[in-house]
Amino acid sequence: MSFIPKSARIVKMIRFGYNQTRNTEASPDDGGALNWYTVMKRTLVTEAPQQTGKEITLAGWVNARRDHGKVMFLDLRDRTGIIQLVLSKSLGDARPEDVIEVTGTVRERPPEMVNPKIPTGKVEVAATRLEILTKARELPFPIDSDGYDIKEEIRLKYRYLDIRRPRMTRNLRLRSRMTTFIRNFLTARDFVEVETPILTKTTPEGARDFIVPSRLQKGGFYALPQSPQQYKQLLMVAGLERYFQIARCFRDEDPRKDRAYGEFTQLDLEMSFVTQEDILKLTEELFTRLVAEIFPEKRIAKSPWPRISHRDAVNKYGSDKPDLRKDKNNPDELAFAWIIDFPLFTKQSDEDFYHGSGGAKFAPSHHMFTAPHPDDIPLLERDPMKVRGLQHDLVLNGYEVGGGSVRIHRRDIQEKVFDLIGFTGEQKSQFEHMLTAFTYGVPPHGGIAPGIDRFLFAALGELSLREVMAFPTSASGQTSVMDAPSRATDEQLKELGITLRIRSQQDVYETIVSEIRKHNIAFKALSHKPVTTSEEAADVRGTPLSWGAKAILMYADGKPVMLVVAGDTKIDTRAFKTVASVRDLRMATPDEVLAVTGVPIGAVPPFGHIFGIPLYVDEKINLNERVVFNAGYHEKSIELDRSGYLAVAKPQTGKFSKPPKE
Ligand code: ASP
Repeated sequence: MSFIPKSARIVKMIRFGYNQTRNTEASPDDGGALNWYTVMKRTLVTEAPQQTGKEITLAGWVNARRDHGKVMFLDLRDRTGIIQLVLSKSLGDARPEDVIEVTGTVRERPPEMVNPKIPTGKVEVAATRLEILTKARELPFPIDSDGYDIKEEIRLKYRYLDIRRPRMTRNLRLRSRMTTFIRNFLTARDFVEVETPILTKTTPEGARDFIVPSRLQKGGFYALPQSPQQYKQLLMVAGLERYFQIARCFRDEDPRKDRAYGEFTQLDLEMSFVTQEDILKLTEELFTRLVAEIFPEKRIAKSPWPRISHRDAVNKYGSDKPDLRKDKNNPDELAFAWIIDFPLFTKQSDEDFYHGSGGAKFAPSHHMFTAPHPDDIPLLERDPMKVRGLQHDLVLNGYEVGGGSVRIHRRDIQEKVFDLIGFTGEQKSQFEHMLTAFTYGVPPHGGIAPGIDRFLFAALGELSLREVMAFPTSASGQTSVMDAPSRATDEQLKELGITLRIRSQQDVYETIVSEIRKHNIAFKALSHKPVTTSEEAADVRGTPLSWGAKAILMYADGKPVMLVVAGDTKIDTRAFKTVASVRDLRMATPDEVLAVTGVPIGAVPPFGHIFGIPLYVDEKINLNERVVFNAGYHEKSIELDRSGYLAVAKPQTGKFSKPPKE
């Protein structure tokens, strides 16, 4: 047994083939019979400089390798840092990102070899044993840069490698320290951390819900919470008085620079028997201390934080989230501000998801549980747009990093707000439980929900919210590494009682082929490089442009229809409106194409019945001997006789094409 320094960390490792006993002291919990656990004495990189002259064992990744003939230098990286190893090649060889275990003696480097850039730069480890625990393939991208210039798609695909990047590791560590700080701060002030359900009913915050189908109640759906808003208010009715949660929120809304797609995390917080002042004070103290503790290099521009009325913010700064930094180029300046005195309502727009059933004019400016200013309650009847709400937004460096309010705690006022935003009947009954709860003794209450990702993103001046999330969803809604959403199996769908209108590309292709076969029609199946336009397609297929059957999904008076014209012509929408007696006609969006046909734009085949929609084929197609089209894939086409195509597709026909303008 080699000498083991006293300060060496003892790490219990579960042995799955990691069975070095040379540097371990076996002390199996089972008395040795199974030898299932061993205790490994491993020194961490940061501890090594204190072990000069002693033999230690290190484990980690090869950060870099420098070959000097018979000797080589390896930089070893563990979670605490980087250290230089000197090895004779006779011990073996290791490549960057291999996971190794090394035993050796810590020695001082000669003065001219000291590396002042790393904390361990005065020493190196002269290795006497090298074991490669696992080999690493070449990484798909470098991890020693900040990574901003690498395509995000690929970074997210290999996120576990991307996180090895020091900047990402730092962000995740800061995030963890931040949530730990918050937990300690709040629990010391009598707050209770409560987890609330993820499978729940709609809690609108103005976005679209994610819904999850129920197996036990076919046709029923859960909604993922846009926030724990209703639960935290119910916890106030329950008498907890002070609640918080590091809560995941789900919103199906388009991503923006400061908004990730799908999910994000908030510090959700609620208090009873408080005024707006109490909520602002607590939040301000929390973040002031958090900055001092976790971001000591940062300076808060102004304390106490400025409080600006919504009207003043808009008039003076042209924004309800003004950037109040004195020096916008200073990465260490944090300018917090409160925006207060918001109007309780804004005009309903198509973009918000409150759409009251009664075509109401008003949408909540924050959410529908925000209390009106007590002085303005009479205005709810007379002039709702003039009512101020007890809402407060937390702004940092030009970003809204949190919002909250004092809540309505009177049933009659809550009902009035439901009426004003047009929630009647079924929509209102979705919130009946709140109205019921409010009949059993509700304390006055209020709260706030600062975004964890948002705050970090703004404080660090990161380029996107995804830079402070471990496994974010891409802007187009693909999850990192696992690449969800993915298709459910037929079995799963059956159990849920769900029939999909969306098919897979393969289904579409196979359906077409089998239908053509059923008709005993000869056809040619072509594979080629992916194409998206008729011109490209004609080119790679080597067929005349006119043979191409261009299939275009449109919405005619709100219903999807398939229009087909020859590749060398264009749709004449006016003519089509007459042919099909349609008033309103528009192109489908790429999302709609995918939803209706299951295939991407450019791969849609000229059929209607397989998608359950009407099909119109332009007369010009009749001039063609043969017809050729992409059959569900950008790289697969089918070519057949015109009459064969018409026999399978059974379209309605008419004249609705025109030559393309050059
Ligand atoms: N539920 C609100 C939100 O998610 C915050 C709050 O009112 O406390 O924005």
